[in-house]
Formats: sequence, C-alpha cells, structure tokens
Amino acid sequence: MNNERIAALVRQLLAEIGEDPDREGLEGTPMRVAQAYEYLTSGYREDPEEIINGAVFESCSNNMIICRDIELYSLCEHHMLPFYGRCHVGYIARKKVLGLSKLARLADCYARRLQIQERLTAQIAEAIMQATEAEGVGVVMECRHLCMMMRGVAKQNSIMTTSSVLGSFHDEEATRMEFLDLIGREVR
Ligand code: ZN
Repeated sequence: MNNERIAALVRQLLAEIGEDPDREGLEGTPMRVAQAYEYLTSGYREDPEEIINGAVFESCSNNMIICRDIELYSLCEHHMLPFYGRCHVGYIARKKVLGLSKLARLADCYARRLQIQERLTAQIAEAIMQATEAEGVGVVMECRHLCMMMRGVAKQNSIMTTSSVLGSFHDEEATRMEFLDLIGREVR
C-alpha cells in the first residue's frame, strides 16, 4: 500500500467536502487516515493459511468446540463505513482442532477488508472447515452497521444477524440446535 498516494487522495477528499486541508487541525490528517486504512484493510495482505499454519493440533475428541463473543470490526463495502459486533464460532472436530487465538485472528483477517456481513460470516466458516476438516462448522455474527445508524434509515438499535452452517451443522437439526443453545441464542 502506498500511503503517500492515499494521503494525497484524502487531501483531495477534504477539499471536495468543503474543508480547508491546510488548516492547522487537518495538517496530519491525510497521513493518519492513510495509516488507519492500512490497518483496517490489512486483511488483504494477510494469508489465512499462514495464520492457521502450525496451530492445528491433533485431537481425539469429537465434542463440539465453541468460542463465543469474538469481537469484530469491519468496513462495509457499500459505504466504507464501519460495522462491528461479535461472532460466535462452533465446530465439531474430526481429528484436528484449531488454537483458540487463531479463531480470532482468522476472523480479523477477513474482517479487515471491505465486506458485507453475509460474506464475512461465510468466509470464516469456510476457513475453519478447510483448516480443521471438521465434521461441521457454525458461525453466527451479530453486528451494528454505522451506514444504517448514521445515515439512510437511521435505525440506531437494529442489529443484523447472519449465520453460516456447514457439514453436520447444516444437515443435522439436533447439531444446529445444540450449537445455537451453546452460544446462548433462543432455539426455535
Ligand atoms: Zn453500508
């Protein structure tokens, strides 16, 4: 990423929205914005396989593994405004389990890109499935979207929920129910 070039674009943006990019308070803003975007989009420059590498462990259990409340911050691809919330991950391992901290890193790797929540949910589920060759994977994500809260319909309290279920989580209702129950969601 070329931060100099992005800073020049931000300077232009400031002028276009009616600001004076030369006033004192905005002096360092273009470069700060460039650096912020470098971080917020760092997922493009990360390889999910590399994150997982070396953190897949052998396991003989085939219990359901649950990780709740993984914090997530992403940018919507329609407005480049943040959406944020949490995701809950569950999977039933066959022989391989993933280090817990890797689940969060994997989620961040996909969240730090321009996203829609549905795709982010699916990508996390598929990455876990691929890494662990699990019997089943479930991901539920609950996020607030600033593009809805600050503009447009201005629905301040709405939370969008998405889910992606693969393998036995998709095929077997009892497994899916157990997952939803374990992450504390009402089972209907
Ligand atoms: Zn949006």
